[in-house]
Amino acid sequence: MEWIRLKAWLIETGAVRLSGEPAEPYISRSAAGPSAGTSGSLFFSIGGSRRVRAGIDGASPVEVVHRGDGEADLFIDGNVIHGMLEPAALHCPRQAYITVSGTCIFHCRYCPVPGLPGRRKEVAEIARMVENVADRVDAISITSGVASSIEEEEAYVLDVVSALRSFNLPIGVSIYPGPGTPARLRALGVVEVKFNIEAATEALFARMCPDLAWDVVWDALRSSVALFGKNRVYSNVIVGLGETDEDLERVMEDLAAIGVIPVLRPLTPAAALAGRPRPSAERLLSLYEIHARILRRVDLDPRRALTMCAACTGCDLTPGRDA
Ligand code: SF4
Repeated sequence: MEWIRLKAWLIETGAVRLSGEPAEPYISRSAAGPSAGTSGSLFFSIGGSRRVRAGIDGASPVEVVHRGDGEADLFIDGNVIHGMLEPAALHCPRQAYITVSGTCIFHCRYCPVPGLPGRRKEVAEIARMVENVADRVDAISITSGVASSIEEEEAYVLDVVSALRSFNLPIGVSIYPGPGTPARLRALGVVEVKFNIEAATEALFARMCPDLAWDVVWDALRSSVALFGKNRVYSNVIVGLGETDEDLERVMEDLAAIGVIPVLRPLTPAAALAGRPRPSAERLLSLYEIHARILRRVDLDPRRALTMCAACTGCDLTPGRDA
């Protein structure tokens, strides 16, 4: 089975059944991102650069058999694919991807974080976490909920970034921005940013994230490209919030036109959207073609990503990496 079809199918299915040798070192549990608060997930990869993250669920029709030392066979629809289980360093393979505040005052309808018993990590604690994995990561990625206010959260994240500069690793940051956030991050040596536009249209954004401002995110994205450069500015757009493919095409065109690489993030049904379906593999594959064409036309390339989701690619079909 072609890799991209396999990955799209796994994203639609959402989870695998895990059997074989004990695999605890390969199971990760997250405080943020699509699997926040779930019982665990794993990363299955082939050829070193093609990677997919899947939840673990004993009822899944897809089985991963761990043969030992990370070697694994994936059984899907009559096919067997040999690959590796990759251990997460912190949250994902090869990165120290840290959620600073695992709590949030906002209530985006798709997001499980506000309902989780999260807390804010101390700066020294974060530095220790990075220290513990520094020999097996290529990058540091920082994200955060908003614990008390957008301004206060940014100030705290800036303290975190300052404390992590001495590791001499590329640092990427994805937080909810305010005016001037990109310049302050850049001044501290941050190399990449991801400010998430989340929904394909402004009307959908207003419904999904009633406390947040669409224009503020766009302003941050616009100013970021001049500061961080080509292939260094990203924005998640969720697939499955009720938008059409035309809406997604338009927002991807708009992001690409200002030099921002869209990350198409399939909905993981959670929180108020727990009853929604995952986007189908067929839809993801057809959107992938549009995504790849748009990026090619403006010569943007997510394979250049150093940090965060475009460097990981576990949850999304990523042009260039998954072709
Ligand atoms: S793609 Fe992003 S959210 Fe998904 S596992 Fe990788 S870093 Fe985490």
